Amino acid sequence: MRRSLAPSQRGQDIQKRKSDGEFDQKRRKNAVDEEAKPGQFSSPYRKPLTDIINSSLCLDASSHEAFIKKILSKPFKVPIPNYKGSSLNRALGVRRQGVRQPLHDPYEDGALVLFTPQELSAHEQLKVDLEKHPVHVVVDPLLSKVLRPHQREGVKFMYDCVTGQQIEDNYGCIMADEMGLGKTLQCITLMWTLLRQSPDCCPLIDKAIVVSPSSLVKNWYNEISKWLGQKLNALAIDSGSKEEIDRNLVHFMRQQGRRTPSPILIISYETFRLHIGVLHKGNVGLVICDEGHRLKNSENQTYQALCGLNAKRRILLSGTPIQNDLLEYFSLIHFVNRGMLGTAQEFKRKFELPILRGRDADATDGDHKKGQEKLQELVGIVNKCIIRRTQALLTRYLPVKIEQVVCCNLTPLQKTLYQLFVQSKAVECQLAANQKVSASSLSFITQLKKLCNHPDLIYDKCLSNEAGFEGALDYFPPGHNNRLVKPEYSGKFLVLDCLLAMIKATTDDKVVLVSNYTQTLDLFEKLCRQRGYIFVRLDGTMTIKKRAKVVENFNNPCSPEFIFMLSSKAGGCGLNLIGANRLVMFDPDWNPANDEQAMARCWRDGQKKECYIYRLIATGTIEEKIFQRQAHKKALSSCVVDNEEDVERHFSLGDLKELFKLNEDTKSDTHDKFKCRRCVNNIQVKPPPPDSDCNSDLSQWCHSADKKGLVDIILKGAWDPGISFVFHHRSHEKQKETV
Ligand SMILES: [Zn+2]
Repeated sequence: MRRSLAPSQRGQDIQKRKSDGEFDQKRRKNAVDEEAKPGQFSSPYRKPLTDIINSSLCLDASSHEAFIKKILSKPFKVPIPNYKGSSLNRALGVRRQGVRQPLHDPYEDGALVLFTPQELSAHEQLKVDLEKHPVHVVVDPLLSKVLRPHQREGVKFMYDCVTGQQIEDNYGCIMADEMGLGKTLQCITLMWTLLRQSPDCCPLIDKAIVVSPSSLVKNWYNEISKWLGQKLNALAIDSGSKEEIDRNLVHFMRQQGRRTPSPILIISYETFRLHIGVLHKGNVGLVICDEGHRLKNSENQTYQALCGLNAKRRILLSGTPIQNDLLEYFSLIHFVNRGMLGTAQEFKRKFELPILRGRDADATDGDHKKGQEKLQELVGIVNKCIIRRTQALLTRYLPVKIEQVVCCNLTPLQKTLYQLFVQSKAVECQLAANQKVSASSLSFITQLKKLCNHPDLIYDKCLSNEAGFEGALDYFPPGHNNRLVKPEYSGKFLVLDCLLAMIKATTDDKVVLVSNYTQTLDLFEKLCRQRGYIFVRLDGTMTIKKRAKVVENFNNPCSPEFIFMLSSKAGGCGLNLIGANRLVMFDPDWNPANDEQAMARCWRDGQKKECYIYRLIATGTIEEKIFQRQAHKKALSSCVVDNEEDVERHFSLGDLKELFKLNEDTKSDTHDKFKCRRCVNNIQVKPPPPDSDCNSDLSQWCHSADKKGLVDIILKGAWDPGISFVFHHRSHEKQKETV
C-alpha cells in the first residue's frame, strides 16, 4: 500500500515527477532524430540490401523459390522456455498461408505423431512442390501429455482406421476397451485432431457427431470441456421442444469450412432417431456411437437411422465384449465398414453357414475343418478394425493392492449351533432322501451362511423352533436379545470389530464394508452405532442423483464418514469409492464376478493409497467350500453360478453332503486341500513363485498360519481374537519412482 506523504514532502514529489517528464521528452526527440538521418545504419545487424541483390549466385527462379521457402519454413521459436502459445493456438510468427507446416512440433519430447510424411532428401526438396507436400499430423500437446501409453496407441489405431490407412477403402473401427481405460478421452483426442489437422495442412473434417445413451450426453459434454475448455464448443442436445431441437440441428448441419463454431454434436440415440430428417441432409466428417452394442441388430430403427447418416468415418464404442454371435459381428462391422464382409446374404453364405455347419454335432471332419478355416478368416478380417484392451493394463498405474483371504474361527456358540443344525433330523432327511437337490436344501445353505456371519441372523428361526433349529435356543446365553450386536458371538464379527478399531485408531483410512445379506448390513449398522463410527449405507431405493451425492461426499477425505456399506447383490456396479483404501468382503458369493466387482470399488483409477482387501471366510465351514468352488470356477472360466437358485443345477447330492460337513480340526480347509508343499508344519518355507500375483491361484499366494508372516500391521492386530489362517498376496511390486 502506498504510504501517504506528509504535506512538506508533497511538493518535492511533484517536482521530481516533473523533471522525469522533461527527460522523457528529450529522449523521444533524440530517437526521432536518429531515424530521420538517411544512409546511416544505427544497427549493426542491418546490412544494405544491395549485397544480396548484386549476388550472381542465384540459380533459376523455381529453385530459388524453394530455397527461400526452405529458409522460411524453419518454425519460429519463441525464446521463452516451455512457451505453449496463446489459448487460440496461433503461435507467433506462424505464417498462415504459403509454406505448409504441421500445427504442432513433431520432434518435441512426447509428441504423438499420427502421420509422418515421406522424408525428402535435400535434392528432392528442391524439386518437389512444397506447397503440396504433406505435413505431419501431431496431437495437440495439451492432450498428448495426459494420454497414457495404451491411449496413445488407441488414438493412433483409430486415426489409421478413419483415414483408410488400416484397411484400404474402409474408414471405420470398433473401440472395445474395457471400462476405465479412457475411451472418451481417446475419442476426444481423435476428434480434436481431425477437426484441426490433416496431412493436407487443413482440417480433415469440419464436424463430428457423438451418439450416446441419453444418460451419457452430459458426460460427453463435460469431458470435452474438461480437456479442451474454451477451445472447442460442443453442442449437447438431450432435451427441448421438437422445433427448438430441429432449429439447432439445422444450424449444426449447415456449418461448413475450416473452423466451424460448434463442430461437435452430442445427441442421444432417441433424439437422433426422431430428427433424422434434418440430420440426413448434408455431410458429417465422423460419427461416434457410444455403447455401440445397441447396434447389434441391423434390423432395428436406430441402426437404420444411423446407417442413413452421410458420414464416411464411423467409430463404434463398446465396453462389453462382442458376443460370440456371428450375426452380431456382422451388424457391428457392417455399420462401421459397410461392405467389408459383403452383404448380409453374402456373409451368410460365405461365413455363417460353413461355420455353423462345422459346429454341428454330426459334422464330418471336412465340415469341421472348413468351419474352422472360415472362422479364422473371419477373425482375421474383423481383428483389423477392432481394438480391445482389458483393465489389467491399469495395474501399473495403480498403487499396490494387498489382497488377504482371512480364515476366521467359529466361536463355540457358532460351532454348537452349526453341528446341531447339520446333524438335525431335517437336514438328515434332506440328504438321505436320495433325490434331487430341492428348494429346502437351498434354504439350509442360506441358514448356514447366515450362521457363519452371526448367530443373531438365525435367532428368529431358533425362537420359532423351525426345522433344523429345534432346541437351539437353549444354547444362546440367558437373556439374549437382538437389540445390541455382540461381536463376541461370531468369529468373523470379532475380527471385523478389531480391524475397524485398529484402522480408526491408527490411520485416517476409510473402509468399504460389503455383504451379500441386507440383514448382515443391519448388524454392521448396529456395530457402527455402538462404536460411534460414522457410516453411509447405499440403499437400492436411492435415486441416481442422491447416490452420486452420497458417493462424492464419502470420497472427500475431509468428510467424517468412516464406513461405506454396500450389498454385493444391490449392484454398486461402476460405483467409484476411491475415498476408501480398505475393503472388507464379509462373506463369499457363489459368483466370483460379483466379488471381483465389489473389490474393484476402491482399487481403481484415481486411488493414491495402498489398498487392503480383506475377504473373511469362516474356517472349515460351508463358506470355505463356496470359496473353493469360486476359485474353481475362475480357473475354468466357464459358466458361473449367478445365484443360489442355480446351485441345484451345479451340485450333486454328494456335493451337498460335503457342503454341509463342518471341519473342526483345521486352520484352513482350503489350504489342506492344496496338499501344499511350500509349507512345512504350518510354516511357509518357500515363497510364492516370483511371477505370481493376486490373480494367481490361491495355492501360489503367501500362506500364513500365524501372524508373523503378515505384511499388514492392521491384520496382525486382529489375529489373536479369531484368525486361524491367512492367504495373502500383492497385485504387483511397487514401481520405482522414475525421476
Ligand atoms: Zn502353504
